[in-house]
Amino acid sequence: MAKQDRITVAHGDGIGPEIMDATLRIMDAAEVGLTYDVIEIGEKVYKSGHESGISPESWETLRNNKVFLKAPITTPQGGGFKSLNVTIRKSLGLYSNVRPFRAYTPYVPSHFPNMDVVIVRENEEDLYAGIEHQQTSEVVQTIKLISEPGSEKIVRYAFEYARAYGRKKVTCMTKDNIMKHSDGLFHKVFNEVAKEYPDIAADHWIIDIGSAVVAARPESLDVVVTLNLYGDVISDIAAEVAGSVGMAGSSNIGMEHAMFEAIHGSAPDIAGQNIANPSGLLNGATMMLVQIGKADKAELIQNAWLKTLEDGIHTGDIYDPKISVERVGTKEFADAVIERLGQKPKKLKPVKYNENVSINVEVAEKPAKKKEMVGVDVFIDWREGNRDADAFGDKLSAEGATDKLKVKVISNRGVLVYPGGMPETFKSDHWRVRYTNPNNELVTNSDVLELLQKIQDLGFDFIKTEHLYHFDGERGYSLSQGE
Ligand code: NAD
Repeated sequence: MAKQDRITVAHGDGIGPEIMDATLRIMDAAEVGLTYDVIEIGEKVYKSGHESGISPESWETLRNNKVFLKAPITTPQGGGFKSLNVTIRKSLGLYSNVRPFRAYTPYVPSHFPNMDVVIVRENEEDLYAGIEHQQTSEVVQTIKLISEPGSEKIVRYAFEYARAYGRKKVTCMTKDNIMKHSDGLFHKVFNEVAKEYPDIAADHWIIDIGSAVVAARPESLDVVVTLNLYGDVISDIAAEVAGSVGMAGSSNIGMEHAMFEAIHGSAPDIAGQNIANPSGLLNGATMMLVQIGKADKAELIQNAWLKTLEDGIHTGDIYDPKISVERVGTKEFADAVIERLGQKPKKLKPVKYNENVSINVEVAEKPAKKKEMVGVDVFIDWREGNRDADAFGDKLSAEGATDKLKVKVISNRGVLVYPGGMPETFKSDHWRVRYTNPNNELVTNSDVLELLQKIQDLGFDFIKTEHLYHFDGERGYSLSQGE
C-alpha cells in the first residue's frame, strides 16, 4: 500500500466515539499528517433502512480513500441486518486479517510474559462464504469453499509479513487429517510457498492440538496462518491468554484497500462514561500508520503508549491497586500518552518498526488442470419404510441406473450404508448415491441428465448432485467412511 495522507474514519457506536476521539487526539499530537473523512456507520444507519449498516455515499468515500480506521459498531439484534464487517471485508477484497497478541506483564496479567504471536487469518473464504441450504427435513448444509489462489494469497501474505517484521517462523494450522481436500489444499499451498522463504522456519499443527498450543504454550509461536473459522476461534483464545482483549488491534488488508480496528465490540454497558480503554483502537491505528508508510509515527505513539502502561496509568479494565499508580478515564489516558510522546518504555520492550514495510503479494494465475468426469454423487431425500438402506440401494441399482452410470456405494452423512452397511448406523433422510462407470469410462453431463431423468421417473426426490472429477489424473473427491 502506497504512502497515504487521507483516510476514512468512522466513530461507530457505544464506546466507539470516545475511543476514536482519544485515538485521533493522540495521532494529531504525534503530527501524523493525516486528513480524515468522517462517515457514519452502524446502528443509526441500520435503523434508517440501510440493511448493511452503511449508506451508498459512505461507500464512495471508503472506496476513494482506500484506508479505513473504524471504531466498533453495534449490530442490531434480529431482523435481516447483515454484518457490516463481513460486507466491508468481502466487498473491498480484504483477504488478510492480521491480529497481533502480545503480553504486557506485569501491567496486564498473563501467564505468558514472552507471548508475542501474530495470527494471520484468511478473511474471505471457508464456511464464512455463508452458502447454506436446508436440503431435507432433517439436514442442513453449509458449504466450505477453499480456493487455491485464495490460499496462496494469505499464505504468501503471512511469509511476507514475517519477513517485513523480522519474525522467524510461520506456523500453519489446518484440519487436513479429516478435510483432506479443502484443508489439504491450504496445507499443500503452505508447503509449496514455504520453500520460497528459506530464511523463515515453517511448521504445521492440526488445528485442535494447535489451539491447545495457543492456550498452553503461546510463547513457542511466532506468526500463525490459518483458515477463516479456525483463525476466528484461535484469535479469541490468543486474546484471552495474552490477557488483553481490550488492548488488541487488528487489520484487514486487501490488494488495494485496508481497514483497521480494535478487536473488541462497542461495549454498550460502559458507553458514555469516559471509562473505556482506547488501547485496542490505538493499536489498530498504529498498525495502520506502519502500513501507510508512517512507521516513525507508529513507533512514536506505540512507545509512548507502552511507557504510559508501565508508568501505571491505567483505565479501569486493567487497573490493579498492586501494580497501577493511577486509575484514569479514556480522555485522561489519551492525555497521558500524549505527554509521553518521544519517550520509550524502560521495562517493556520498546518497538522498532521497519520504515520500508511494504507487503506486496502477487499470485500468478496457473493454467487450468486437465479435468475428467468419472461419476456423480446424487443426493436423495428419502425416509420411507424403515429407512432400509438395502431396499433403497437394491431398487436404485436395479432400476435407477443407466448403462453408463451404476450405483457404486450409498452413504448417509458420509458413512457407507450400501452395500454391506451396518444395521447400527444411524440414517437420516439425506442419502448420497455414488454412481460411477464400472469399466472406468469417462462420463459427461448428458450421461448425468439421463441418469437424473431415470431417478425422477422412479419417483425419488433428488436434491442435488456433485460431479466426481479427476484433475490432472488425481482423485478430486473424498471416499465415504468405509468405502
Ligand atoms: P464487547 O467487546 O463490546 O464487550 C465485552 C465486554 O468487554 C464488556 O463487558 C465491555 O464492557 C468490555 N469491553 C470491551 N471493550 C472494552 C474497552 N475498550 N474498555 C473497557 N472494557 C471493554 O462485546 P459484546 O458485548 O459481545 O458486543 C457488544 C456489541 O459490539 C454488539 O452489538 C456486537 O455486535 C458488537 N461488536 C462489534 C464489533 C466490531 O464492530 N468490530 C466486534 C465485536 C462485537
